[in-house]
Formats: sequence, C-alpha cells, structure tokens
Amino acid sequence: RKGSVVITGASSGLGLATAKALAETGKWHVIMACRDFLKAERAAKSAGMSKENYTIMHLDLSSLDSVRQFVDSFKKSGRPLDVLVCNAAVYQPTAREPAFTAEGFELSVGTNHLGHFLLSRLLMDDLNKSDYPSKRLIIVGSITGNTNTLAGNVPPKANLGDLRGLAGGLNGLNSSAMIDGGNFDGAKAYKDSKICNMLTMQEFHRRYHEETGITFASLYPGCIATTGLFREHIPLFRTLFPPFQKHITKGYVSEEESGKRLARVVSDPSLTKSGVYWSWNKDSASFENQLSQEASDVDKARKVWDVSEKLVGLA
Ligand code: NDP
Repeated sequence: RKGSVVITGASSGLGLATAKALAETGKWHVIMACRDFLKAERAAKSAGMSKENYTIMHLDLSSLDSVRQFVDSFKKSGRPLDVLVCNAAVYQPTAREPAFTAEGFELSVGTNHLGHFLLSRLLMDDLNKSDYPSKRLIIVGSITGNTNTLAGNVPPKANLGDLRGLAGGLNGLNSSAMIDGGNFDGAKAYKDSKICNMLTMQEFHRRYHEETGITFASLYPGCIATTGLFREHIPLFRTLFPPFQKHITKGYVSEEESGKRLARVVSDPSLTKSGVYWSWNKDSASFENQLSQEASDVDKARKVWDVSEKLVGLA
C-alpha cells in the first residue's frame, strides 16, 4: 500500500514542496493539515499534485480545540498514520506586542510548539498502530539550535531560562509572554519555539523509541529565504535577504531542494536513525548535526515536556 503522511502547514513553502515531492513518487498519500482550506487546494493544484495523491484536512495549530478536532476527524477517516511531519510555523520578527492563541498562549510558542506537542501526543497511538516498515515523527527545527554556524549565533539568541514564563502560561497577564520570563521579542519567541521543537523530538526519542520502534527526527532544511515565513519582515529585509543568503552565507536553498531534503527524512530507507538532527552540506549530502548545549539539554527537555503537558491539558 501507499504510505500515509500528515504534513502540517503544507499550503506553502517547505511543507508544500515536501508534499509535492512525496506525491510525485506515487508511493505516498499526503494529508495536508492546513488552516486555510482554499489556499491549500490552490497550492496543491498549482504545484501540479494529482487528486488521488492528497487530501486536505483542516487544522489550526493556534487553537487546541482545532488540534483535537483534527485528530478526531483523522481517526474517523480510517487512514493509517505512517509518518507525521510537524512543519507549520509562524514567525513575527517585527511585532512590537505579543499576539495570542485561542487559549491565550503567546502565538509563536503556542502554535509552533504547544499546538504540535498536543498533535503529536494525540497521534502517537495511530503512529504506533501503523504496520508500515518505517514509521516516523519529524519535527522541523532550525539553525538556531546550532552554535557551530554563524547564523545560529545571530542575536537575539534563543534562551529558555528557567521556563518561568512557560510555567506561568505565557499569557502576558500574570506571566510573561516569553518562556524565560523576559520582555517580548518576536524573533526570540520564534527561536525559543524551535528550541522547544528540537527538545521535544529528543524527549520523544528517549520516552518512546525503544518501546515503539518509531523514528524521531528533526532537521534544518537550509535557509529557504523565499518562503512566506519572512512575509512579516520589513520590505528591505525581504529584498536583501535571499541574495545575502545566496552569496554571502551560502546557506540558501530553493523551496524545491528543501522539499526534497524533508521528503528524504520522511521516506529514505537510509535515514531511519532516531533522535537525530539532520543537516545538509553544500553538496546536499545529509549528515547528523550537533545541537547547541541548550537544544540538547536532557533536563530541560524533560521540564519543557512536563510543563507543556499541563498547558495543553494532558496532565
Ligand atoms: P511558510 O510561512 O511558507 O510556511 C508555514 C506554513 O505554516 C504555512 O503553510 C502556514 O499556513 C502554516 N501555519 C502557520 N500558522 C499556522 C496555524 N496556526 N495552523 C496551521 N498552519 C499554520 O514558511 P516555511 O515553509 O519557511 O516554514 C516551514 C518550516 O520550516 C517551519 O517549521 C520553519 O520554522 C522551518 N524553517 C524554515 C527556514 C527558512 O529559511 N524558511 C529555515 C529553517 C527552518 P498559511 O499558508 O495558511 O499561512
């Protein structure tokens, strides 16, 4: 049978390019989990994906009710779940004030981390039940977890501190909207959320890999300087960033190439190692990258897991 893969945020950028790459093989049915049905349908059509290779299902990660509804509808659909890709993200580098999810969590961490945390926890059973030869849970990371690169060291740097803001509910009322309890900074909130993504992947690995055989992985797909992620940046930045990445840092990859990379993490029989953070060198060969100290802190991973469980209502 065909593999069955759920990709969040498949309506643009990396998610769409990955959906297209997998659909084209004819070996995968892609469930595009998107907040905007019409946008996703148009995106799939214009990418040339054929109807029998994809299904669009509604998912708004900035609402935990929506996450639960998605999981219910997915279970009712009777489709197997062989691979789950947590890809969607919001990035608000120029926001002066925090925005919030339906439950009142700061939007970047609430969407990128907490929404995906609940989604993957609720879908673990389905992944576990799959009889596919290689089942995987992939959480897209970012370079901010690498301290061995220039881009991973650009301020404001991620820092989760002692998690006091997260533990307080990230609501900007009786707690800070930032995980570390500091003043709001949209770019930092995004980076913090990506550290949470990478810590969560490793914590999943430690808790479930041996017992379930599921492969847990994260990756840095390269700098895809053209995606919608930068849509809220100032216009000058949006003009200069792609050539800067192409010619100066040389970290630039096209959406198509990044989609092929993620598609390999989904399906390549040689990429089954669990607990790994994949990166690619300039010849597009994959390698296991080192994570920064904070992004591989075992104690912090457990704390983020425990606090997140409470916030999403699992504990
Ligand atoms: P895009 O903005 O193009 O794609 C983000 C996707 O997430 C969109 O489909 C968007 O939906 C979706 N999304 C946003 N909020 C929600 C929500 N509340 N519920 C459901 N879906 C939502 O960005 P990229 O393709 O660049 O980003 C994809 C991943 O790649 C992210 O995890 C990002 O952190 C990571 N990444 C990107 C890099 C880059 O250089 N671009 C570098 C490193 C990592 P909609 O279409 O409706 O807006």
